[in-house]
Amino acid sequence: MTMPVTRPALPRVTYSNTGEDFSAVHAHLDAVLPAVRRHLLGRAQPNRIGGADDDSDGEAYDAASPIDRALLLGRFTAAGAGAVDRAVTAAAEAGRDWGRRPWAERLAILRQGAVAMERRKYELSAAALLEVGKSRLEAVGEVEEAIDLIRYYCDEMERADGFDRPMQRAFPHEATRCVLRPYGVFAVIAPFNFPVALSTGMMTAAMVGGNTVVYKPSPLAGLTGRLIVECFVAGGLPDGVLNLLCGGAATGEAMLTHPGIDGVAFTGSHAVGMDIFRRFAAGPQARPVLAEMGGKNPAYVTASADLDVAVAGVVRSAFGLQGQKCSALSTVFVADAVHDAFLERLTAATEALTVGNPEDAGVFMGPLINEAALRRFDEACAAGRADGTILCGGDVLRGGVYDGGCYVRPTVIAGLPDDHRLHRDELFLPVLTVRRFIDLDAAIAAGNAVRYGLTAGLYSRELAEIEQFLATAEAGVLYANRPSGATTGAWPGIQTFCGWKGSGLTGKGGLGPWYVPQFMREQSHTLMGWE
Ligand code: NAD
Repeated sequence: MTMPVTRPALPRVTYSNTGEDFSAVHAHLDAVLPAVRRHLLGRAQPNRIGGADDDSDGEAYDAASPIDRALLLGRFTAAGAGAVDRAVTAAAEAGRDWGRRPWAERLAILRQGAVAMERRKYELSAAALLEVGKSRLEAVGEVEEAIDLIRYYCDEMERADGFDRPMQRAFPHEATRCVLRPYGVFAVIAPFNFPVALSTGMMTAAMVGGNTVVYKPSPLAGLTGRLIVECFVAGGLPDGVLNLLCGGAATGEAMLTHPGIDGVAFTGSHAVGMDIFRRFAAGPQARPVLAEMGGKNPAYVTASADLDVAVAGVVRSAFGLQGQKCSALSTVFVADAVHDAFLERLTAATEALTVGNPEDAGVFMGPLINEAALRRFDEACAAGRADGTILCGGDVLRGGVYDGGCYVRPTVIAGLPDDHRLHRDELFLPVLTVRRFIDLDAAIAAGNAVRYGLTAGLYSRELAEIEQFLATAEAGVLYANRPSGATTGAWPGIQTFCGWKGSGLTGKGGLGPWYVPQFMREQSHTLMGWE
């Protein structure tokens, strides 16, 4: 599709440059959103195998926008076992050339993919907004992140000189090198909530390392999945290097049980990630499983905190993208001395958030992704009401635009017992629990006492408290005193994004320097007779 809207020069949107003037971005989106609705939505979006569109095996399904269930995003095909087999075979064949090319050639092609994505940035952003119900700036920020991820992982490969290093010599005429080489075919399985950035990040790292890819987006996010693949193809990616299969768990299972898959990169829930790890990592031989999983992320507001900064950061991280971020803030621990003052400001700021159709510029929170999330919301609020106090929110919105999807009010719950499940389980909802503390050490220990360890935040003006937090919080991504987000807003090349404990498998995350090498295996080359 060629978008019938030309793009003026616009400022970059990230998750944290919140203070900038984005009026030109909004003006452009005013034109792009209706054009995307008209020209992109409601069409068949085929799978892609070996460089050709391919819907020959599988069941067709329609995907609707969470903004309005009457809005058809497109028609997709849940790939069956035959399609999976052909995609894996195509990827293996393409890998014979792709994996042996000089890495600089691979980077040149992938960087052209970033150029193509840059060109279609606003179209992709609008698609992500309509597909996931993201706010405008969250959607544009995500595509910007995806473009940066391609560039960052290519730059990392270059900085590491292709992961090819001369080693020490045992003898003068013997030269040894250590090289990282591709595994072969990687399955890339992505979640719904950051469909552009996470899919792009995982597949780029795999391809930078010389692997080829069979990619399955979330069944809720096939539209952006298809657009991402189109960008890489437009950048000149050879046929078969990146294959797209839509569908849900059954397609994912068929991919992972295929003997031609050499490794998997997964991002999604803890339950599915651990299940994949247990069943896939050890077959007839060990295979790498990179899994980034859920979170239950705490923030701490101490007596010395700037409460305006703390409220701003807490609200953005708890309720941005409707709480449906792995890094979303779930529980805020508040020092006794500022507890009441903080809660007063927190509830006022939460009640002031606009919930509605995220196509509108002023909307902060769009709909929940689906009815299953709405049921979880109802259950969480019922538990909050029964065992604690709902300070604000707790209800489903009805009437007008709200009747088209699952719109709820951002919710703050206090007074729950310390061991309550709402303090422990990942909710993936716009629900924040509050806990009062006297001793910061004990509060951090309580925040650590969950199965997850993804992000954590602190608000404090005492250096000793900041150092204490950095030394003892059990999470891969820590932030202190950020108004743009207590626990959210990581950016490629700036904040590495590594899940500890139940949030990640490998101890090395995305967005940072140790990601690409995880898609490669080591080989030692010793040659005699060399000076
Ligand atoms: P999900 O686990 O339900 O699905 C993720 C992907 O796995 C989808 O593509 C799905 O179709 C596929 N899948 C499901 N069952 C499968 C199976 N048996 N075999 C193979 N594939 C299977 O997650 P979701 O609801 O799409 O996303 C939300 C979850 O993702 C949350 O828990 C969130 O915290 C997590 N997440 C983590 C990160 C991170 O970087 N740590 C980032 C984003 C989201």
